[in-house]
Amino acid sequence: MRKKIVAANWKMNLTLHEGADLVNELFKGMPTLTESKIVVIAPPYVNLHQTSSQLAGMMNVHLGAQNCHHEAAGAYTGEISAAMLQSAEVAYVIVGHSERREYCKEDDATIAKKVNQALAHGLNVIFCCGEPLEIRDADTQNQYVESQIKAGLFHLGEERLDNIVIAYEPIWAIGTGRTASTTQAQDMHKHIRSVIAAQYDAHVADAMPILYGGSCKPSNAAELFACADVDGGLIGGASLKAGEFLGIIEAMVAAN
Ligand code: PEP
Repeated sequence: MRKKIVAANWKMNLTLHEGADLVNELFKGMPTLTESKIVVIAPPYVNLHQTSSQLAGMMNVHLGAQNCHHEAAGAYTGEISAAMLQSAEVAYVIVGHSERREYCKEDDATIAKKVNQALAHGLNVIFCCGEPLEIRDADTQNQYVESQIKAGLFHLGEERLDNIVIAYEPIWAIGTGRTASTTQAQDMHKHIRSVIAAQYDAHVADAMPILYGGSCKPSNAAELFACADVDGGLIGGASLKAGEFLGIIEAMVAAN
């Protein structure tokens, strides 16, 4: 049975105190999770240590990071390596988020190296892909997302795919309040699964969690998570408020 995952991406939000308060609130309201229905919380780097201690008492809630560097170590002022994340007890790392692709000019080759660094240090990768609005308007989103997946993941052997989660995040839906329809989400998730099946095999594709991201909130989470190929969500804005994030987690727990 493939995992269902709701992952919080706090982005560049919340101070240490605010982050601690949010995790305390989540702790109070967290529904019962299992090994196959899990939560990931990816705070800013400075919060990792504190959040790790807070998560110690929470079953099936894992620590995530929002990025890692593409080299193992060295003279990269201000950067954080996958080995550092591993030593901070991080279990998941977000790679290839559209904000990093755009604002930090991360290209496919760099993202593929980050995937390698993360896997080499025992981290699970939440690999983000998704098209801008002009690609959606031109109806070429399937080819666009397929090429991101090929460039970022297809150099990996099948055995590494166990540690990969894909997050489909249409850029036009991120932080805009505009969510993909259930048909748009399901069609793309099904396409992604077929792309993985064609390169690897149906078994690998079937086991891979594919998350939706883009203005997901309690009011639309249940219908998105009811789609056959949507295995949860990567949540930005709504992960910053305990009540909203818990509502989304509850939708994942209730989904078949
Ligand atoms: C994201 O940036 O990963 C995201 C899904 O953001 P939001 O939920 O705010 O659209």
